[in-house]
Amino acid sequence: MARLTGYLSHRGGLHPQEAAGLRKAASLLFDQQSRAETCRSINAQGYRTTHGNEWAPEVLARVLSHPRMAGLDDEGEPIEGFGDTVLTPDEYRRLLALFASQAEQQPAPREAFDYLLTEGLSECGLCDWNMVGTRVTSGGNPAYRCPPPRPGQASCGRVRINADRLEGPVAEEVLAELLRPGAQERLMSLLEDLRGEAERLRSHVEGAEQRFAKLREMRDVLVPSAYEAAEKATRQDVREARNRLRYLEQLIDVPVAGVSDLVAWWKSAPRTWQRALIGVEIVKVRVLASGRGRHRDPSARLQIEWR
Ligand SMILES: [Zn+2]
Repeated sequence: MARLTGYLSHRGGLHPQEAAGLRKAASLLFDQQSRAETCRSINAQGYRTTHGNEWAPEVLARVLSHPRMAGLDDEGEPIEGFGDTVLTPDEYRRLLALFASQAEQQPAPREAFDYLLTEGLSECGLCDWNMVGTRVTSGGNPAYRCPPPRPGQASCGRVRINADRLEGPVAEEVLAELLRPGAQERLMSLLEDLRGEAERLRSHVEGAEQRFAKLREMRDVLVPSAYEAAEKATRQDVREARNRLRYLEQLIDVPVAGVSDLVAWWKSAPRTWQRALIGVEIVKVRVLASGRGRHRDPSARLQIEWR
């Protein structure tokens, strides 16, 4: 049985350092801090879970909701001889009441929006960074944006576009392309190329162990810094090949062979297949900055790079 944070074993025995972190968390929650703020705060002070991980909001709520926090059994009765507890029974009940009231105030969760052009299919026109889907909260419309910059990530965070203004025009252009004569043959040959590339990548990834082994054989003849650089480059190369392969594998099985009416196919296709078909037809779409309402036509902000 896994040890409960705050105690040395499931029979009790206070873990003073962990207990202190949980008590701090409880007081922050009583002070109207959100669970996320509370976690940030206690993580910053160096408190960790029994597994040594940083606290996440769901984990914190789950641990603090455990009856043992107040030395209670599953029926809510005090356990005989349990010893010191993280919380008093009164604090524990107040916390449960707080969690219950927060659960009631939660807006009904909206269906998560399934973005069509994430995973590198759209990029910021200012900084070339891949656009990401914004989290859909109540009231807001799904949108793509350039992620805000943070240490080690030089994205600009300045370009944003509503999902319908990006996905609609791109889907239209791709469908128009597919209606042109010879489009089906072209699509099949694109798929053929991608399958070939996937095949090459797969054997490249499979050969990685061998390349590492060869490299290790050369360890004695290389200066350490050169060896480290070579190992790092090889690792980086394998990682990139794996990522690209994973991406291609999503595309190459899109079931379009023999489909005569690709528009009808599109309309009834699940999102995954639509995404795959777009990925076969285009490399990516560049989203330009909005430029103060100059673009009434949303497609004026989009530059499609066809495959
Ligand atoms: Zn940007």
